Amino acid sequence: MAKATVLVVEDEKDILDVVDFNLRQAGYRVLKATDGAEGLRLAKHENPDLVVLDLMLPGMDGKEVCRRLKAGEDTRGIPVLILTALSGETDRIIGFEIGADDYLTKPFSPRELALRVQAILRRSQEPVVDTGHLEIAGLSIDPERHMAQAGDEELDLTATEFKLLHYLAAHAGKVQTREILLSRVWGYAYEGYARTVDTHIRRLRKKLGLLAYRIETVRGIGYRFREER
Ligand code: CA
Repeated sequence: MAKATVLVVEDEKDILDVVDFNLRQAGYRVLKATDGAEGLRLAKHENPDLVVLDLMLPGMDGKEVCRRLKAGEDTRGIPVLILTALSGETDRIIGFEIGADDYLTKPFSPRELALRVQAILRRSQEPVVDTGHLEIAGLSIDPERHMAQAGDEELDLTATEFKLLHYLAAHAGKVQTREILLSRVWGYAYEGYARTVDTHIRRLRKKLGLLAYRIETVRGIGYRFREER
């Protein structure tokens, strides 16, 4: 199998070098950019498997880069791992609001970064459930083509939102705890950040529009996909 390519966008030379070294050690091909515009250009031309994106960049900041990646037809499917100097909940939520798939707070251990990269690539490359194409409750969810539709309208979902929707729909009627969702959709224990699930559910519901009610909150437990009206 070909090496996965990771694009790292980071203006701090020391961090860039450490990340570059560790990802190459872990077996990835690494592309480097030191500002947002260059990062965006490389993402479009090189079509990396994942982007590691610093939020604080000179010129176009990481949030704008992420927004543009997620808005671009060719780049929206590329998972984004955000690096942030801020550890607040707000920052984390902002990261997910702009479509990031995961985030790491600086300072981080290079090993932790490599593990996150591995986990994101694994979940973006493998179907999370083996149920295949689903037609349920007005939704059509096709993991092979990575396409979800509500009626005739195609939903613009990130890789993680897609897996979340597919997993919930494939287990319609059954309550899923946040912990289960973290392990099945995210594929690893996410330091107990159950709020990660809530943030993604909120975004997913927004995108589902009139079908948002299909994803039901089960107070104190988690979420359930409801088939009935
Ligand atoms: Ca920076």
